[in-house]
Amino acid sequence: MRTLNIDFVNADKSDVILADTQELDRKLLETQRTLYNLEEEKKEIQKGSCIKCRKCSTISQIRNLGYRQIHYYVRPSGCTEGDYWAESAGEVICPNCKIVIRLYDIPKIMELKWLFKNIDKVYDHR
Ligand SMILES: [Zn+2]
Repeated sequence: MRTLNIDFVNADKSDVILADTQELDRKLLETQRTLYNLEEEKKEIQKGSCIKCRKCSTISQIRNLGYRQIHYYVRPSGCTEGDYWAESAGEVICPNCKIVIRLYDIPKIMELKWLFKNIDKVYDHR
């Protein structure tokens, strides 16, 4: 059985020598900046993604389109859950012929909704 040594000394700041990570910290910061810049560069490229109108064939970059986020009403259920508005798919309006282009079942474009010119919240009261 091991017993605690009852003799002790208190360590002073000068007794602790921390390993030097200055160079690594500098590299980490530099890498984080590089990562941020690459992500920003990727976003700029993604803003050039296009949607083609099936009515008039106009092709528009998402950077020039407003994204309409549709919300639908969910009735209260049970005794604790109140009613609320849930997000549904998105849509855009063709800048040329003004038809509504629904983006259902295209999750890849919906993931990019933050890169559109703006996001309008639309509440579907039907
Ligand atoms: Zn069109």
